[in-house]
Amino acid sequence: MGHIKGLKCRECSREYPIEPIYVCEFCFGPLEVAYDYQSIAKSLSRKTIEKREKNLWRYRELLPIDGEPQVGLNSGYTPLLKADNLAKVLGVDTLFIKDDTVVHPTLSFKDRVVAITLTKAREFGFDTVACASTGNLAHSVSAHGASAGFKRFIFIPASLEASKIIASLVYEPNLVAVDGNYDDVNRLCSEIANKYRWAFVNINIRPFYAEGSKTIGFEILEQLGWKAPDNVVVPCASGSLLTKVWKSFKEFRDIGIVRELDTKVFAAQAKGCSPISTAVKSGTDVIRPVKPNTIAKSLAIGNPADGFYATQVVKETGGYAEDVTDQEIIDAIKLLARTEGIFAETAGGVTLASAMKLIETGKIRRDEVTVICITGNGLKTQEALQGHTISPHHIRPSLASFEEVLKKIQKGSD
Ligand SMILES: *Cc1c(COP(=O)(O)O)cnc(C)c1O
Repeated sequence: MGHIKGLKCRECSREYPIEPIYVCEFCFGPLEVAYDYQSIAKSLSRKTIEKREKNLWRYRELLPIDGEPQVGLNSGYTPLLKADNLAKVLGVDTLFIKDDTVVHPTLSFKDRVVAITLTKAREFGFDTVACASTGNLAHSVSAHGASAGFKRFIFIPASLEASKIIASLVYEPNLVAVDGNYDDVNRLCSEIANKYRWAFVNINIRPFYAEGSKTIGFEILEQLGWKAPDNVVVPCASGSLLTKVWKSFKEFRDIGIVRELDTKVFAAQAKGCSPISTAVKSGTDVIRPVKPNTIAKSLAIGNPADGFYATQVVKETGGYAEDVTDQEIIDAIKLLARTEGIFAETAGGVTLASAMKLIETGKIRRDEVTVICITGNGLKTQEALQGHTISPHHIRPSLASFEEVLKKIQKGSD
């Protein structure tokens, strides 16, 4: 298809053909997929998109594949919920939740990037896929790689949540638990990627991986009635998702699918791993790497590959960043469950708690339209809530025993 021009260096703009490469040979800048927007503008309209199936492939002209989709055929098009109960508690007029806790086969937004990357890995002719993961990518590559028939090498920090490790192991990949944090795992994987001809989804074919994140942004604009929100709050690990949400918004504007774009982009992080929000708050674009220590393990990247670009997007759009404590993360997970019936993983707690701070400090205005991105399901990180929920009522199997408890409950709710 003629809609992709090639790869292009984000720093020096040097162009490369579509190949499994990710850094510029001349300036070492990261490569990004470049499209022919003029030709896409001619063939892609609101009407064409609306006629297609409700999954992430409905935006395929803006995704870097040549042939037909091969992996993750039903992923995407997750709900955008108008969260009126939560809006009332937060004291804002209009709040939407982009709910990536549901629809996807492995219950996180990583199924978006994996659908695109494994399709691309197949096009490139790889037989082995691999990744360095903070948890959700491991789960998604393990699952999608199984059904697509790839050999799989999955690298994780050994300290990951037990539930996420089991969720990956069930698909029987080669799971390698590394004694070290994500940044150690990632460094090791870069070395391995240089030596073995494997498709490391977030390393040597990262430019294609990253494009998958745009689909959450396309969906938000479509689901708002082809309009951009005033604010969007995005959780950050490497910072890739945040930069791609903004890229997707700009693409829809540039090809005329949305008319106006005046969105502020906000970054959300955990205090125990906040290199991006710390840079934003101190007004610098120098990312100082940290050693992660937070329950939000899916966001625990101390040296974020796209951190610099994330700070640029925040600055360019007039957004800001926040970071929150583990207790604030837990409280926000519970608030979201109580008000909207959504059970988010720790990353969702980070996003909501950060949004609340941004509202309280006036960075997000109460009369504006705000979308918060909830990117993973709470069933995946139940450990984080151990000892932090209410307790069940324990009874003997008799009516009398139940009614004793019922009396107490009714008294309590008077
Ligand atoms: C990976 C991940 C993110 C964001 O990751 P980036 O590296 O910043 O793109 C957000 N939420 C969850 C649940 C994730 O697993």
